Amino acid sequence: MPVGARAVPQPQAAVPFLWANPDPMHDFCYRGDKLYCEGLPVERLAKEFGTPLYVYSEHTLTEHFRRLDSSMASIEHTICFAVKSNSNLAVLKTLAALGGGFDIVSAGELQRVMAAGGEPGRCVFAGVGKSESEIELALRRGIYSFTAESEPELRRIDRIAGRLKKVAPVAVRVNPNVAAGGHRKITTGTYENKFGLAQEEIEGVYERAAKLRHLRLRGIQMHIGSQITEVAPFAKAVGKVLPLVKRLQQRHGLEFFSIGGGLGIVYDPALASGSPEWWKTAQAREILTPAKYAARLLPLLEPLRMRILMEPGRFISGNGGILVTRVQYLKRTGKKTFVIVDAAMNDLIRPAFYEAYHEIVPLRRRNGARISSDVVGPICESGDYFCRDRPLPSLGEGDYLALMSAGAYGSVMASNYNSRPLPAEVLVRGRRAAVVRRRQPTQETWRGEALAPWQS
Ligand SMILES: *Cc1c(COP(=O)(O)O)cnc(C)c1O
Repeated sequence: MPVGARAVPQPQAAVPFLWANPDPMHDFCYRGDKLYCEGLPVERLAKEFGTPLYVYSEHTLTEHFRRLDSSMASIEHTICFAVKSNSNLAVLKTLAALGGGFDIVSAGELQRVMAAGGEPGRCVFAGVGKSESEIELALRRGIYSFTAESEPELRRIDRIAGRLKKVAPVAVRVNPNVAAGGHRKITTGTYENKFGLAQEEIEGVYERAAKLRHLRLRGIQMHIGSQITEVAPFAKAVGKVLPLVKRLQQRHGLEFFSIGGGLGIVYDPALASGSPEWWKTAQAREILTPAKYAARLLPLLEPLRMRILMEPGRFISGNGGILVTRVQYLKRTGKKTFVIVDAAMNDLIRPAFYEAYHEIVPLRRRNGARISSDVVGPICESGDYFCRDRPLPSLGEGDYLALMSAGAYGSVMASNYNSRPLPAEVLVRGRRAAVVRRRQPTQETWRGEALAPWQS
């Protein structure tokens, strides 16, 4: 389902619990009339730490990792969490402790992983534009493999490895030319975008790379897009490149095949709660679960006898976090009701950037009539909204709301636009909560800036 699209009309009645999913995968739900994160009422966190506030559930993060991990148990595999989806040190530490590796896309992410106690030897380094200094750092720290996206990059890695008297482990990213992913800004697996190399070219690339003396051809990688909510595109892409992978494995002794990330999550419980019998609908049957993913892919991958890497980001972090915000004002103009909140597009840009859908629920459940509302932030941009014309309970100044499924591509994309400080982040385990990023002091938003000498 496309990001932000609605499969069924919005529910008019209060939902018994969020994502009443037969395969429940997160720990944010109502108890009585209060929204809880694990064992804590979220409102208590909002009052203690202020808003806007990201709240992460350690159990949800762990559970997603474990389920994917155990569903693939029959083959040798490594889950390399895509750091770009949520790079908070405490989140990385949680996943490192489970034995996870990391999919990184910059030297900064490598340094973060190490700061969180993750091992460079479990990192794969992707991205089309790796700089000399990034390659050098990754080689010095000993990453598991580069994911090279072009021949000039392979030559550059070889040259730098030679200079450092090292051998660089590399994989090449193959583009399987399968269209997938919910939005044009997040599809990556077709020949029309900048990622990877065309399947037809790959064998030639490996032949030439095999002649570069400072490279070790360690694997092959693909990643077809993000927020893919069905298994079919994954199976199609793996099936398409499989013969190529086998030939390369035989010829160059490759050790691993990374099938990338991109597993989608449920953002829109309308999918799930449109009717009490929702789980019998075709859409519900289509919801991607680790079990379905594994059931389709394992028969393809088992015969390879290679180490399989997965690079999920959103699947692990997405439903593991929410963004809590507080209503500042209500404003009625003509036929519209605007709920003006204290979070904005600088805190969570997905609705503005990808037209993404985030479920919005009050921290105290309300019954009664719903009012078609726009939830908007204080930033001076018409794009600064979280939802439009959505039936929400009647709200008042000071009420707290949660933007659900904000754990992936949320805080990592936050900016200081409008000189707004970055929000605080809290990690919850059971009944304990810890600030894992303090709210940025306002003076820090201009740290590093200076007046020109002629201005003083
Ligand atoms: C972004 C990215 C991922 C993770 O994507 P998700 O949709 O968050 O799972 C994995 N691999 C690569 C190479 C990526 O660029």
